[in-house]
Amino acid sequence: MRILVVEDDKDLNRQITEALADAGYVVDRAHDGEEGHFLGDTEPYDAVVLDIGLPQMDGISVLERWRRDGRAMPVLILTARDRWSDKVAGIDAGADDYVTKPFHIEEILARLRALIRRAAGHASPELVCGPLRLDTKTSKADVDGVPLKLTSHEYRLLAYLMHHRDSVVSRTELVEHLYDQDFDRDSNTIEVFVGRLRRKLGHDLIETVRGMGYRLREPHGG
Ligand code: CA
Repeated sequence: MRILVVEDDKDLNRQITEALADAGYVVDRAHDGEEGHFLGDTEPYDAVVLDIGLPQMDGISVLERWRRDGRAMPVLILTARDRWSDKVAGIDAGADDYVTKPFHIEEILARLRALIRRAAGHASPELVCGPLRLDTKTSKADVDGVPLKLTSHEYRLLAYLMHHRDSVVSRTELVEHLYDQDFDRDSNTIEVFVGRLRRKLGHDLIETVRGMGYRLREPHGG
């Protein structure tokens, strides 16, 4: 899952970015409204953390433009404690949720998890596909009750496929959602990771759809 953080306070931006990276997300960051708007307009994000008070272009305007142009990714806005009107304006502009500063980073993480899984149509924090379970809260997965030992890349790949289970996901989509903008993207590496993940899962859960991509689904007959 790939997340954009738009926050002009450098320390706060770093704090959020590092916590998200620790939790297994790929993160791009912006420090003003224009840069943030551009990234959200041109790159596919699974969620955005958007500060309201930003230089160049304020967060409400950024959000209004995205929504007007059909950008539908979940957006969590950051508002100042004494600015209740920002929450109203933000939600009216298309925000999905808000967190008031100062906040505990766990609150940001929990709200993002909820936004991402709801955007993918899941109500429960635990995603299940046949013998495979993925706990979005702990970033851990198991098969038949046996914990999987996954690298961060493998976890990201599995989490993305689990959130979009039963759908065909193209290699391009995976590259876009598993790597940040600075990464040397090569869709061949996706095949390598899928191969490793298949071996670790030990079940035929990831189907290759020729010329289209991959689909994670429950094996037939059990
Ligand atoms: Ca600010």
